[in-house]
Amino acid sequence: MENMNVNDFTVEDISRLAFENIDAVIAVDGAADTYKTVVRRGFFEKFLKETGSYHDLILDLWFHFNESREKVAEDYQVFADNTGVFKAKYSRRLRLVLEGEENAHLVQLTVYPIAESKYIFLLDEFIDSESLQETLTSKKINTIQNSYLFSMYIDLVQDTTSSINVAEISDDVVNYNLKYSEWRMMIVNMFQPEDQEQFLHRTDPEYMKKNFAPGKTASYDCMMRNLEGNFIWVKLTFSRAQTNNEDDYRFVFLVQDIHENSIETLSALKKYEELAITDPLTGVYNHGEIETQLHNALALRQKYDDPVSVMMLDLDHFKMINDTFGHSVGDTALKQCASIMKEIASDDNTSVGRWGGEEFVIVCYDKGAEAVSYLAEKIRKTVEEAEFPEIGNLTCSIGATELKEGDTFTDAFNRIDKAMYASKHNGRNMVTML
Ligand code: GH3
Ligand code: MG
Ligand code: MG
Repeated sequence: MENMNVNDFTVEDISRLAFENIDAVIAVDGAADTYKTVVRRGFFEKFLKETGSYHDLILDLWFHFNESREKVAEDYQVFADNTGVFKAKYSRRLRLVLEGEENAHLVQLTVYPIAESKYIFLLDEFIDSESLQETLTSKKINTIQNSYLFSMYIDLVQDTTSSINVAEISDDVVNYNLKYSEWRMMIVNMFQPEDQEQFLHRTDPEYMKKNFAPGKTASYDCMMRNLEGNFIWVKLTFSRAQTNNEDDYRFVFLVQDIHENSIETLSALKKYEELAITDPLTGVYNHGEIETQLHNALALRQKYDDPVSVMMLDLDHFKMINDTFGHSVGDTALKQCASIMKEIASDDNTSVGRWGGEEFVIVCYDKGAEAVSYLAEKIRKTVEEAEFPEIGNLTCSIGATELKEGDTFTDAFNRIDKAMYASKHNGRNMVTML
């Protein structure tokens, strides 16, 4: 063979040589959903079955993560049947991983359509380090570029999609044979149920035609199942092609993974929200928040029959404590009192807030007069028995009331005020209910 002159080669020689060199040859019948492996060498002896369903073969070749055997989430596998449709010759690189092996095999796939839905698949493994190096480099570039999950082109007039790129699955573009209208109904299932209506609204062809001038881009964030099947935050971007033809409605559609960033933003928001409603000295709700809760409690009481009660607590002779021990000792005592209240009224249906100075308000969403009087007495007694640094002992007076049907904010507050006045007037360190 080595000393054969190229001029002497015949078609038979060439096909025999090719046949001896190609690692795998598969005959495929898409319509019958079947394939037969005619040649299997090397790594393919283990990777390919002799025969099986064409759908499963497509899943093995495409629908796994680039560097592992792990299958992508079931939702995305609905695209498999559209992937295995070829109208012309097609070629691409695949990374395939064998069960139990760590490293991917880099493979070149070439598809020859030979009749309606019948194809020959030729598969060849790259083994030289140069091509491996090349993919490693391209992988690095892709890691930098690809924070997107996938991208595609849409033509609203033709109702077509083309050139879909799924970043995690492959570096190459895949040509799906999918109508835009079909694609939309398939992909909608990958969104959270509450986000589905918005997705259908925003991707509606009539909506898009009306709202996008040529070259205009719009995006929005929502949660979508990723290829592994978990819901993550994504940014969906639609961009209409720049065109002079008003009737040309081609778009690029991009799904970007913004999960980590969004989680950070949400936790920052949560922190700011907490800061906005918290009293910095004592850590209980601030005046604005506890007043809002008092309004909410009144609204709830008008709406439902469940009992709701409110109490106010005022520390006794606190001016004297400040004057005697200093402001910062007073501050420490305020913090300690707040902790006592929070600990005793710790369930989800009770809110503790600082009304101002040495006055606190507690809203009990599930307590009637009897229960709130019991709770108030427990707080009063615990404060009385607590040891305060430097000060020693401290007492408080409490006024409480159960909200009545028809109560306005002023009605409720007047009763609490009167109850507090009574507690102070009758000797302090006591609870009055009105
Ligand atoms: P009463 O038993 O009648 O409630 O007497 P009182 O001295 O507690 O009442 P008064 O309203 O005269 O005084 C409240 C005092 O609370 C005034 C102020 O010295 C103190 N106070 C208010 N806010 C703070 C604060 O943020 N820190 C400290 N340390 N003291 C405060
Ligand atoms: Mg006071
Ligand atoms: Mg006081």
